[in-house]
Amino acid sequence: MARFVVAIDGGAGSGKSTTAKGVAKRLDFFYIDTGAMYRAFTLKYLRSSGSGSRKVDIDLIRRLLRDTTVDLRKEDNEMKVYLDNEDVSLAIRTPEVSDFVSQVSAISEVRDWMVKRQREVAEGKNVVCEGRDIGTVVFPDAQVKIFMVAEVEVRAARRLRELGEKHMNADENEVMENIRFRDKYDSEREHSPLRRANDAIVVDTTNLTIEEEIEQVKAIVEKRLAAPEPS
Ligand code: C5P
Repeated sequence: MARFVVAIDGGAGSGKSTTAKGVAKRLDFFYIDTGAMYRAFTLKYLRSSGSGSRKVDIDLIRRLLRDTTVDLRKEDNEMKVYLDNEDVSLAIRTPEVSDFVSQVSAISEVRDWMVKRQREVAEGKNVVCEGRDIGTVVFPDAQVKIFMVAEVEVRAARRLRELGEKHMNADENEVMENIRFRDKYDSEREHSPLRRANDAIVVDTTNLTIEEEIEQVKAIVEKRLAAPEPS
C-alpha cells in the first residue's frame, strides 16, 4: 500500500503534470506520471506493429504485455520513463504516440496491466499520482483527490510551450485537435473513462499561473496531512 496518495486527474493539458510535479517536489513525495506509462507501452506497440498501420491488434497487444517492463526512475531530480530498460522520456512525446495513445489505453488488458504496475510503483511511498482514472480506479482511497480543468485554448497553448521546450515543433491547430480528440475518446471509453470522482476537488487552472496552481493544490494536501485520520 502506498502511504499517502494525492490523486490528480484531468484532461490533456489541464495542468496536471506541472502541478503534480511541483507539489511532489515541494512535499518530497514520489511523482507518478501514469500518462507516460501508457505512452511508453504505445511506443512499444507502434514500433512492433510497423507499416504505419493504425489499427489496434489485440493479439499483438496481449503478446507484448507479457514481455514488457515500464519503470519510472528519479534521476537528477527528473522523472524518467524506462521501457524495457531504455530511457524513452523524449520518444513518448512525439505526435505519433500522442495520436495513438488513447486507442491503446482504451483496451481493458492494457488498463489492468497498468493499474497493477502503478500500484507496485507506489508501494510504501507517499505519492502524487496523475492521470485519468487515479481517483476513481487506481487509488479510490486516496487521501486527496483533485480534478483539474481548463479551457481548451489555454490547454493547447500549454502543450505547445511544453513541446517547444523539448525542441519538438508542433502546429497549434493539430495540438488543439489532438487534445479534443483524446478528451472525447478518454471520456467515452468503456473501461475506466476520464471522469471526476465524487469526492474530488475541482481546480480550474484557466486563469492560474503555474505557481498559483501548485500552491493551491499543495495547500489542500497540507490541510489534509494536518487533519487527524478519520476513524
Ligand atoms: O497524461 P497524458 O496526456 O500524457 O496521457 C496520454 C494518454 O494516456 C491519455 O490521453 C489517455 O488516453 C491515456 N491515459 C489513461 N489513463 C491514465 C493516464 C493516461 O488512459 N491514467
